[in-house]
Amino acid sequence: MNLTNQQLLQHQAFINGEWVKAEKSFEVKNPYDNTSLGEVADLGAEETKLAIEAAENAFIPWKNLTASKRSRILKKWCALQHKHKKDLATILTLEQGKPYAEALGEIVYGASFVEWFAEEAKRVYGDVIPGHGNDKRITIIKQAIGVVGAITPWNFPSAMITRKVAPALAAGCTVVLKPSELTPFSALALAKLAEEAGIPPGVFNVVTSAKASIIGQEFCSNPKVKKISFTGSTRVGKILLSQAAEGVKKVSLELGGNAPFIVFDDASIEEAVAGCVDSKFRNAGQTCICTNRIFVQEGIYDAFISKLIPKVKALKTGSGMEVDTKVGPLINMAALESTKALLNDALSKGAKMVEGGNHLEGLLFEPTILSEAQANMDIFKKEIFGPIAAVYKFQTEDEVIRLANDTNYGLAAYFYGRDYARIWRVAEGLEYGMVGINTTLISSSLSPFGGVKESGFGREGSKYGISEYLNIKSMVWKI
Ligand code: ADP
Repeated sequence: MNLTNQQLLQHQAFINGEWVKAEKSFEVKNPYDNTSLGEVADLGAEETKLAIEAAENAFIPWKNLTASKRSRILKKWCALQHKHKKDLATILTLEQGKPYAEALGEIVYGASFVEWFAEEAKRVYGDVIPGHGNDKRITIIKQAIGVVGAITPWNFPSAMITRKVAPALAAGCTVVLKPSELTPFSALALAKLAEEAGIPPGVFNVVTSAKASIIGQEFCSNPKVKKISFTGSTRVGKILLSQAAEGVKKVSLELGGNAPFIVFDDASIEEAVAGCVDSKFRNAGQTCICTNRIFVQEGIYDAFISKLIPKVKALKTGSGMEVDTKVGPLINMAALESTKALLNDALSKGAKMVEGGNHLEGLLFEPTILSEAQANMDIFKKEIFGPIAAVYKFQTEDEVIRLANDTNYGLAAYFYGRDYARIWRVAEGLEYGMVGINTTLISSSLSPFGGVKESGFGREGSKYGISEYLNIKSMVWKI
């Protein structure tokens, strides 16, 4: 890997401020060409215990620093992420596959959470509440929860980490992170910069492992861990939630989605098409807020599809390191097989292939449009996580709200239209944690990110994000 600062490519885990070898290691591959990017330490339950212990020892001194001091350290970490953004993006693209421009965007986006929570650290305010008697006073303080076990996925190998670690550290918590085994280098690079920024030993630890369930089990069963924060599949989220129940640990879960994208007949078709392409094909369709079901009102259905086709045709597939690539490879064979299966199921049930539909070389899949999609198809129910745009036709507002909500997921939803009364009705009627109205750019450090239903609970970003890492303590005084 050709980096300006070769130090950012670390192969060892990071525990208690030290780079730790392991007896075993696992290989990380570039999903574009299947070449090896190197080996990473494969840790188990014992090393995870040590990391948790280190995080516990670091907790009291870290939380006892003034908020300003923690803030300054976080700002330094943020500045280093900006300084090294090109190297961080290179690592990200090589291990994950997304186009380099998207990777660079992810690094800047990820750093924005560090900046935001560096500021929020100083605004962990309490409350004074009128008492329940003339001689009573009630005061509220918020306190750092303690050691956090964080588990992150491969689709945003960098930003999903900063979205958890920055608010945790800002609140005064310490963290043991287990990144995805598919993309550990981005996590280790962030750890290298954390070390340089002066984050004290034990405050941020990275446990790399190919045995995710063993690490997850240790996080959930170890009494020293007070909070689990997870981003990933609903399947694994449910496992962690049930494991965490034993110790009644606090949990935040950001799980799968099945985003509806609704276009009403008074929408700007051009804007809707542009939003649809962005939100559908970002990261080759592999994000939890990717458009999954495109509902277009009858009167503009044909016009929408005919405007969508050339935009999708223009998306170049290829290596994320080539400047004009817009859609990189899928993450692995399982993702490719699942994309093909969803496509075949939809075609067998009457969907029409309007554009694309082919598996190209390696893990590249052609950006695809299906029309005449129906609610009985697997593609309606499952998270696609691939570059297939399935377009459904609807007639009325009530019908489309019912269809949009006909899923166990509830993360992001989008709709395009101009009628203001309808905008309110639809926005209120959608059972989702986030709704984009005439936009699909819904995610920033300023806005709470998270879901309802089986998409999980808890929020990342915004003033709400830090509260996931704080306990409320009420003090009742007699005076
Ligand atoms: P995806 O389908 O997006 O890969 P996963 O939920 O499988 O999502 O993975 C997200 C994260 O959860 C990764 O870091 C992965 O290693 C981890 N993981 C997978 N299985 C388990 C498990 N049983 N317990 C804890 N973590 C797990």
